[in-house]
Amino acid sequence: MTDTDQSDAGQRAQAVAALRRLDGLGLNRGSTGNLSVRAGGGDGCWITPTGMAADEIGSDDLVWLAADGTVRRGRWAPSSEWPFHVAIYRTRGDLNAVVHMHSPHATALACLRRELPAFHYMVAVAGGDSVPCTPYHLFGTAALSAAVATAFKDRQACLMANHGLVAGGATLAQAMKVALEVEALCGIYLQALAVGEPALLSAAQMAEVIERFKTYGQARRSGSG
Ligand SMILES: [Zn+2]
Repeated sequence: MTDTDQSDAGQRAQAVAALRRLDGLGLNRGSTGNLSVRAGGGDGCWITPTGMAADEIGSDDLVWLAADGTVRRGRWAPSSEWPFHVAIYRTRGDLNAVVHMHSPHATALACLRRELPAFHYMVAVAGGDSVPCTPYHLFGTAALSAAVATAFKDRQACLMANHGLVAGGATLAQAMKVALEVEALCGIYLQALAVGEPALLSAAQMAEVIERFKTYGQARRSGSG
């Protein structure tokens, strides 16, 4: 086994663990939802296979997909939603993992075709002052990939109309963090909407939060916070 194989084995095991975690949290059901980690030094990735439930998938079931959609390794067909994963890797060289869920709250908001606005400062976790909602396109299509890639130019997450949520991160752990946070925020936003129209933070207030998050991240990396 080469070094690359061994490091990929670790990545694949983490991907399977993350998939099972989402299933356990009730954020994905059966074979809905999928995730990937960048692989092979380009815009390709290890991605979950199509049509298999989280508890059936092992590390060896992940599919190594080249950026053009060619299967380089693996015995199953990749998730039918692979095009938007690759589109994100192509758009954002700094993102190395993508998590996609049909989680209840994000999907409910996506079915209203509403973005998640700056109603709470944590919305900045996705890199801006909103989590946009793309127009509706059929799953697996180039049109959906293009819409997701556009949203990801300056965000790390977006809703897809009448579909669900997609989040990215520099690591799988970060992509999971963004996905789980956005799902929780969508739940709070829907609860607030049920009572009235939530007050929104201004662009200046959100810019302040985004700036603070950058410093906060640096403090954590140096072990001081
Ligand atoms: Zn989906």
